[in-house]
Amino acid sequence: MPRPVYEVSHYINGEFLQRGLRFEVRYPATNEVIGTVPEGRQDEVDAAVQAARAAFRTWGRASASERRKVLKAFARGILQRKDELAQLETLDVGRPIRENQAGYIDRVAANIDFFADFAAQHGSEAYPMANGYINYVLRSPVGVAGLITPWNVPMMLETWKIGPALAFGNTVVLKPAELTPLGAWRLAQIAHEAGLPPGVFNVVHGFGPDSAGAYLTEHPDVDLISFTGESATGRAIMAAAAGSLKRVSFELGGKGANIIFADADLDRAVQVSLRASFHNQGQICVAGSRLLVQRPVYDEFIAKFVAAARTLRPGDPMNPETTLGALIAPEHLERVVGYIESARQSGATLLTGGDRPELPSPFNQGNFLKPTIITEVKPQDRVCQEEIFGPVAVVLPFDSEEEAVEIANGVPYGLSAVVQTRDVGRAVRVSEALEAGTVWVNDFFVRDLRTPFGGMKKSGIGREGGVHSLEFFTEAKTVCLSNR
Ligand code: NAD
Repeated sequence: MPRPVYEVSHYINGEFLQRGLRFEVRYPATNEVIGTVPEGRQDEVDAAVQAARAAFRTWGRASASERRKVLKAFARGILQRKDELAQLETLDVGRPIRENQAGYIDRVAANIDFFADFAAQHGSEAYPMANGYINYVLRSPVGVAGLITPWNVPMMLETWKIGPALAFGNTVVLKPAELTPLGAWRLAQIAHEAGLPPGVFNVVHGFGPDSAGAYLTEHPDVDLISFTGESATGRAIMAAAAGSLKRVSFELGGKGANIIFADADLDRAVQVSLRASFHNQGQICVAGSRLLVQRPVYDEFIAKFVAAARTLRPGDPMNPETTLGALIAPEHLERVVGYIESARQSGATLLTGGDRPELPSPFNQGNFLKPTIITEVKPQDRVCQEEIFGPVAVVLPFDSEEEAVEIANGVPYGLSAVVQTRDVGRAVRVSEALEAGTVWVNDFFVRDLRTPFGGMKKSGIGREGGVHSLEFFTEAKTVCLSNR
């Protein structure tokens, strides 16, 4: 049966609008067209910002518990459509459906649910002074929030921003990634059905430069931008946002080290490394695909890691048995293959992968690449310095703890890292020495939404999560109360 071609619309002021020139969106696993999408231009961005500004007058003044009620209904609506959303995310991204069914949509809903509760429950600071004065802090929403998101885990990152922005009383204009518009479009329908008032949440589709993304960033009536994407795009957005002095929060690229000490539980380290390198086809900002392995276990670890990588099954992402999906687009596949070529040319060894798997039609038209493991590289090589964003792991040996930390920190990024050891003291020392916003010890990708998330160095500006989202999405006001 041929797939339906979805007709995606903008969501502006409570209405689903089809206006504007349309562009096509393709299924990464087959490259067939699965949707057509309107490109938002200045008019659509203006209309969405205007609607958000008008809605802010009431949404911004509503109590957090009133907002909680409708946001909880939004989160419930997401859970009720779990299967459909899991399928849409697979169509958008090409990720195996089993990964979307195993907790992903729950996390999409939790992003809304958690912040709805958090905003209704958090307290406020108070500072009594020795002379009897009392200072207390009030929090109010900032205003109209511009949210710009990437294609790799679209619904998770969209709700990660929508949840706190709305819960703390802001109104939203979301610009989803042009390659993955289906999920955001469906989320808008669910929000609408949940009873979010018109204008509180708007979605404008389109591209970045000279399109909806840039118009949103430059818009004088947008008060803040929360952006997740490439570091280079962050630079462009920061420059554009400077014109109207918007506050910005950036979650950018990464090149996470995954340090495996000789005392680690090696079988567990292999499984953790498999996920850290190949989950979502390696298209994940926190990927731990730069493996540093202590020399006494280097050969043994590599043998096990290569064997484990060969067990991953590429193919139809809708098949629950499939464990490796497709890369997002042919151009991206080409870019990733380019990195593998550059390593080959500089003398690296390819232990497995590097080429495309043989798949039956129509998946032979998709953007698949075998899991690839590269050794005999130097820390300064391109593949060890730049974000590859594909199923490509590089493995380097090290001798001492100090050497591991030095190599791990020797990149421009500082988003995340993995440390694998059974020595608690070492875990504490190394975690402290690493330049990374998040360090996982003996695991990967576990998140508590109360903790700060973000990156050091070129990996971002600011932190989001729990109280850190509260700080970004609200204005603080100190009231100093006299006792006389
Ligand atoms: P991207 O920067 O190309 O695009 C992200 C979004 O920004 C898209 O919606 C795009 O349309 C928009 N955009 C592009 N140029 C713009 C401009 N000049 N003005 C306004 N908007 C613009 O990123 P991508 O390729 O979609 O995503 C991959 C990148 O995202 C990787 O670098 C990855 O590490 C990063 N990422 C980071 C995190 C994190 O939490 N740190 C999470 C996921 C992805």
